[in-house]
Formats: sequence, C-alpha cells, structure tokens
Amino acid sequence: MSSPPHTPQALNDIAQQLLGYDPKSLSIDMAREFIATLCESMASEFFNRVDAQEMVAMENALGRTLSQDVYSPMNVPAHTNSAMDGYAFRWQDVGSTQHRAPSEFKVVHTVLAGQAWDAALAKDECVKIMTGGVMPIGSDTVAPMELVHEITNDRAPFQCVRIDSQLFQAGDNRRLIGEDLREGALALAKGTRLHSASMGLLASLGLSHVRVWRCPKVAIFSTGSEVLALGEPFKHGHVYDANRLSLTGLLQGLGVEIVDLGVVRDDPQALKDAFLTAKETADIIITSGGVSVGEADYTKAIMKELGDVAFWRIAMRPGRPFALGRLGSCLLFGLPGNPVAVMVTFLALVRPVVLRLSGQTPQEPDAMWAKSVMDIRKKPGRTEYQRGLTHLSELGQLCVGLTGNQGSGILSSMVQGDCLIVLEHDQGDVKAGDLIKIWPLKSLI
Ligand code: AMP
Ligand code: MG
Repeated sequence: MSSPPHTPQALNDIAQQLLGYDPKSLSIDMAREFIATLCESMASEFFNRVDAQEMVAMENALGRTLSQDVYSPMNVPAHTNSAMDGYAFRWQDVGSTQHRAPSEFKVVHTVLAGQAWDAALAKDECVKIMTGGVMPIGSDTVAPMELVHEITNDRAPFQCVRIDSQLFQAGDNRRLIGEDLREGALALAKGTRLHSASMGLLASLGLSHVRVWRCPKVAIFSTGSEVLALGEPFKHGHVYDANRLSLTGLLQGLGVEIVDLGVVRDDPQALKDAFLTAKETADIIITSGGVSVGEADYTKAIMKELGDVAFWRIAMRPGRPFALGRLGSCLLFGLPGNPVAVMVTFLALVRPVVLRLSGQTPQEPDAMWAKSVMDIRKKPGRTEYQRGLTHLSELGQLCVGLTGNQGSGILSSMVQGDCLIVLEHDQGDVKAGDLIKIWPLKSLI
C-alpha cells in the first residue's frame, strides 16, 4: 500500500457522518456533500504547500485565480481628463450669466493626450483638448469639437470659439480622477478568476505580474479494452476514445494543467502503471469507464488496491456508476464510460472540485429557469440531466424543449442541445408550460 496508513479510514469517516448514506443508491445532493467534504479535507494540504502560489505575467494570467486581494496602487484615471476631443472651459464663465447666451472664449493652448499643461485658465479662456488630455486647472467642462463654433476674428494670435451653454451641463465630458478605481480601494478580491476584463483592469493599475494559485494538475485517462486511441485503425466491436477529448475540452476552460495519459487497456499492470504515474504527477485524477457493476475489467480492483475508493451508484441519469477516492494526496474521480454520462458527471460533481482547487469558490453551474414547451416524463427519486434546446418566445420568454434521443451514449445530443435540463430528485413529470431549471452549456463546455 502506497497510501498513508490513516487514509483507508477517511472515506468511511465521511460516510458515517452522512445520515442515510447508501453507496448503492446515493442522491446527487449526498454525493455532492460527500465530495465537498473530501475535497475540503484535502484542500488545506493543497493550499498550504510552499509552491501553492506563483507570480505570472499578466499576459499569461487568463483563467488563473488570484491568491490574494489586489488593492489599487493608484487612481484610475490618474488625473481628471477630457472624455472628448473639444474645448475645456470653466462652467462659471457661462453658468453665471443670467440668460445663458452663447459665450465666446479665447483659446489659449492646445492640450494633447499625454501632455500636461500646468497653467490655470482665467475668465473666458479655454483650451483645445484631445480625449485623455489632462484638464487644465480651473476647467471643469468640455464642449465637444462638433458642437463648438470656431470664430476667426482679428483678436489674433488667439483663435476664439463660441460655446452654447444650453447644450451642456457643468462637468460634461470630463472623467474624474479615480472614478474607475480609487487609490487604496480593493480592485479585485482573492479567489477571482481572471478573464479579459479583469486582466485589462489589473493592467490599468500598471501591474505587470499578478500572484495566483498554482494550477491544479489533472491527470486524465480512458480505460477499456474496446476503446481505441485516435489514429488507431478502427477495429470491429471497438469505439474511439471520445471521453478523453470531451474531458480535455471541459478542463481547458478551467485553467488547469492537464496530464494526458491516453487510453489504458484492460490490463492490470498497464492500469497500475497509469494510476501510479497519475498519482505522482497530479492533484486530481479523472478516469472514464470500468466503474459500473459487473465490469469484467481490472479498473475497480486496481483503484481499490492503490487507494481509498468508494464505488457508488448515484441516483442520477445519465451517470449512475461513479467512483470517488483518494490515492495518496490525489483526489480520484472514476467516471462512467458513456460519453454523455462523462460530461454530465463532470459538470455536476467534478467541476466544483476543480474550481475549488483552483482557488475559486466551488459552485454548481449557473442555473436559469425556462418554460418547458413539452411534457417530459420524469420519475421521482433520481436527478435527471436531459439535453435541451432553448429559444425565446415572441413575448421574450425563455423556453426549452428536449433534443431527440436522450441515451447516455448519444453525444450528438450534447452538440444539438444548448443546455442541460435539470430535473431534481423529488420532481415528477413535467407538463408543458411548467418552469424548469436549466444549465446553459455555452460557458461550460
Ligand atoms: P463502462 O462504464 O466501462 O461500462 O462503459 C460504458 C459504455 O461507454 C460502453 O459502451 C463503452 O464502450 C463506452 N465507453 C467507455 N469508454 C469510452 C470512451 N473513452 N469513449 C467512448 N465510449 C466509451
Ligand atoms: Mg468498460
């Protein structure tokens, strides 16, 4: 046994805390709770490692998760500046006049972006200013170029302009210092996953590098003697390995490092080698196939031999057979073999753990509610994840219907559909017109 001596107890301990735990028929909620408990017990180990955090260059930060709060080291914008190409003037020069007739201003300077001008405006003076130009002292309002009448007269060398104050209010077209971010304010909180906008925001603070959690390493492999690796010639009775590619896609969007161990044949030594390699290199192992009841292969036996593993039949469809365990300091998920079941169990049960170990708050996919356009048969006592296709009704209401065949091997249903319809454990038949819960797939797969 390569696991520490206390490990075999761990899953039992968790099981004993869960009232009504039955590995042969586990509700999805209990499965989730079990997994979350195991994940938490391993998370502190994970986050307290010396190399748990690292600095990355901002351009490589997409999808990474902040490991500390980021406070703004400066005001953004750093100076009050013009939001338009135009003329900056003092509102009091027009605002104080009773009838607000168009006022004439003397143009005393041109302020380009990036060129500060230290002088202050005097009465009835203005500057020509470009977008981003620092507002001169005293000025508070900008009249856009196209709304200003330029006057050529004999008061050379200064050009004059006429500004119709009826068109403006005090402070128009000016961007105030710190209106985006105040110096010292929390810009982004620890645990934030960085996307394009947050990368831009941190860059606007002048930060070239950012401290993030290390990417969890996720080892994946497919098991089964009938599973062919891509590139192999097709053989009768076999299937090409769809699962590893679906998993790769699901994981790539989550900012993890994938360790791809390919297809592993139903051979004890090959399986053992794969699990041991995965255990040495990864934080999470995800396999597919070989965990259902009556499996003729060695996957379950090897999992049991190398770690502390529970084999479940989850009251869900698709995705009944499922293995959860711990191999050393590694979390193990043994997903079913059927391709839709792989994707659904990943989204419902594995994804939250991957998010958690990436430093984010673990969460189920974001749900929405849609009106069912059809009756849907559903037995209480299991959670179903059916493939649905949404549309907006003429009144703008979100509606959903089933894609065709809902078989757990029908991967095309995941392509035709744009959501999973989540029918909860206790729910019965759905009637056309009922509101039902959906998980939009767009941001998930
Ligand atoms: P299992 O859970 O191993 O009993 O597999 C259930 C079904 O999924 C079987 O029809 C397998 O052939 C199929 N299957 C298993 N692994 C894969 C895979 N990697 N890609 C596509 N189908 C698979
Ligand atoms: Mg199999």
